[in-house]
Amino acid sequence: MATYIVMLGPPGVGKGTQAKMLSEKTGLAHISSGDMFRENLKNQTELGKLAQTYMTKGELVPDDVTVAMIKDRLTRPDCEAGAVLDGFPRTPAQAEALEIMLRNFNGQVNVVPFITAGEDVLIERLSGRWTCRANGNHVFNEKTNPPKNDKICDFDGSELYQRDDDKPETIKNRIKVYFEQTSPLISYYQDHGKLVEIDGTQAIDDVTEDLMAALQK
Ligand code: AMP
Repeated sequence: MATYIVMLGPPGVGKGTQAKMLSEKTGLAHISSGDMFRENLKNQTELGKLAQTYMTKGELVPDDVTVAMIKDRLTRPDCEAGAVLDGFPRTPAQAEALEIMLRNFNGQVNVVPFITAGEDVLIERLSGRWTCRANGNHVFNEKTNPPKNDKICDFDGSELYQRDDDKPETIKNRIKVYFEQTSPLISYYQDHGKLVEIDGTQAIDDVTEDLMAALQK
């Protein structure tokens, strides 16, 4: 049976970094809805242009559009063994759509690591975040994980940029949207016995260690 891991937590808590690590360690596909929207935006697809109108304001892209995109992604061959879902689901309606989708694949959500940190930590991390233009998985932070050379990616030498939605006004709205629309998923997955809380203020490797321990359970 395939394994599906849903990474839950506020923006800036490190879900993306940890999802990437988990994907490397488990061999499961890493599916980031935010990366998929950004890729569509870069390629100026209709989906990308639609998503942009929401992303720049820190709002959520409508459920039907997001669910259709993820459904299509999960049917690709690299997801046969399952996936680490990063940024999806983000609303109760998306969580319900996911349940139905996975039932059709004869699977279910196995575990939901819920990574936590206080709002001040989130704001500091998001506002100091610099992302590689060539590979959105190469992420730095000007305070906690600075690149060796200013605004240049250590891994491939590409330019680092600040995401539009990592600007102060949008950050505040993203956190607000998280509390209003995504945080109900905490009790949803707790009620389903899937939630494992993890302290996201620890060093990156310690968070990964806690996550791996959560998967063994
Ligand atoms: P992220 O990279 O996960 O922070 O996502 C960036 C932006 O993409 C979010 O602020 C939303 O506008 C959009 N987005 C990503 N995932 C979802 C989702 N599951 N539902 C709706 N919008 C999403």
